[in-house]
Amino acid sequence: MRKSTSILFLIALLAARVPGSVAQTASGSASSSSVVLSPSAQADLIRLGGQMMLAGKAYEYDRELADEIGPRLTGSANYVKATDWAVAEFKRLGLSNIHKEGWKIPATWEPETLATARMIAPHEQRLHLESEGWSPSTPEGGVRGNVYYLSELKVASVQAQASRIQGSIVLVDGEAIDSAISDGFGKLFDALDAIGKAGAKGLILGIGTTNNAPSFVGVTAFDGSLFNLPTGNLGREDTLLLKRLLARGAVEVEFSFTNRIRRNVTVNNVVAEIPGTDGTGDYVLIGGHLDSWHPGTGAQDNGTGAATVVAVAQAVMASGLKPKRTMRFVLFGGEEEGTIGSIRYVQQHAAELSHCAGVFVTDTGAEAPKGWYAFGRADESAALKTIQPMLDSLGAGGVSNNGEFTFETDESAFLVKGVPAFVLWTPVDKYFLIHHKPSDTFDKVNQRDLNLGAATVGVTAYAFADSTGELPHLTAAQVIDQLKSVNAYTEYQDLLAHKVM
Ligand SMILES: [Zn+2]
Repeated sequence: MRKSTSILFLIALLAARVPGSVAQTASGSASSSSVVLSPSAQADLIRLGGQMMLAGKAYEYDRELADEIGPRLTGSANYVKATDWAVAEFKRLGLSNIHKEGWKIPATWEPETLATARMIAPHEQRLHLESEGWSPSTPEGGVRGNVYYLSELKVASVQAQASRIQGSIVLVDGEAIDSAISDGFGKLFDALDAIGKAGAKGLILGIGTTNNAPSFVGVTAFDGSLFNLPTGNLGREDTLLLKRLLARGAVEVEFSFTNRIRRNVTVNNVVAEIPGTDGTGDYVLIGGHLDSWHPGTGAQDNGTGAATVVAVAQAVMASGLKPKRTMRFVLFGGEEEGTIGSIRYVQQHAAELSHCAGVFVTDTGAEAPKGWYAFGRADESAALKTIQPMLDSLGAGGVSNNGEFTFETDESAFLVKGVPAFVLWTPVDKYFLIHHKPSDTFDKVNQRDLNLGAATVGVTAYAFADSTGELPHLTAAQVIDQLKSVNAYTEYQDLLAHKVM
């Protein structure tokens, strides 16, 4: 997932296909719009599930990504290594049509120095601060100035206080950021942009969960462009201290960091296929993002998801299975900067999106799976019933229609085009303690739980690949109804208004 918000946090309708309705269940049209499996296909699923549980490779793949390649910031040298790793493994497994698909990002970003920060007045004290993602470097010698606390993160509030913001280091706390996010990330980014335009010297986002882990809201724009102001993330305790002191008088701080920034860089998604036997060009897509944040090694965000994608390919090949529809495996970049890789993928593949029978994305870590997010599509829930006994045996027979995470990962670009889209549903209690933090490392990954999740993805995606039935693609109007049903339409409007999708 790309943003943490507890503090946190895209019409290819086929004439030949019958549009479904969000409220419709598959009953009454079971033979055309659900998963229908022959006895031999069911036996194949059992073979695949056994392969993945008893000899699955997700754990080893995640170890290689997290421990041997390390943090994989979009477009960084490590990210390129990870794309080479995936290409080499897909080749070794014997997949087809293995290639990279490039798209441009305005800037890549990596910390070059450790950030330093201190309070100067009313007394001297070290502060726990890290650079925000895609922040420019501070000027030589750092940024130094009086702190101005901004309690509300809206463009109008910023403009009304512009004379006091000018020349200050603006402090915004987690509560103000959460409140702004509830109106959509676009409105948050507009307000942050206005702070820079008002002439602030620097910006401090008080979003760290603790001083021990100043965490990352991520980025301050949708498209991977650099922010307009040196911006640091400050630990929780330090943020509260600054607010208490500001209530009594002036507070002066300074911070300094250098970030390595390269402009207009090509970033690659990695694509590989197991060709379908039916020759129609229809496919299912098994995807997840390969990029990560840098404080940890991205073992769970999203090493487990990327490892799952390759592990499903490995297990299908090792089982000797031949699906009817093509199984396409895609590792996306740029997810953490606004699901850029999957948005570009959907744009680049618009002409053949109509052939996509389902998208299956993993991005919530390695806790034991509960099932799938279906984002309000009753026909998706109904289709899963065909394989529910198998998913139940993995503990993953559930369906969630919680729309909170609709635009948080790479299924969203497909979902808004009406493609049947699923995200693996796992608990996130432990995940949100570590993601985007130094503690997102391989030691937290449980092999059995990861195998359960990978097997859930493998069995479900293979069932959709081998089914004689298929789910419809929704019309644009039906997508809007779907998004409204899961309370995600406001966020979609925000994204459209900012030309993100
Ligand atoms: Zn993620």
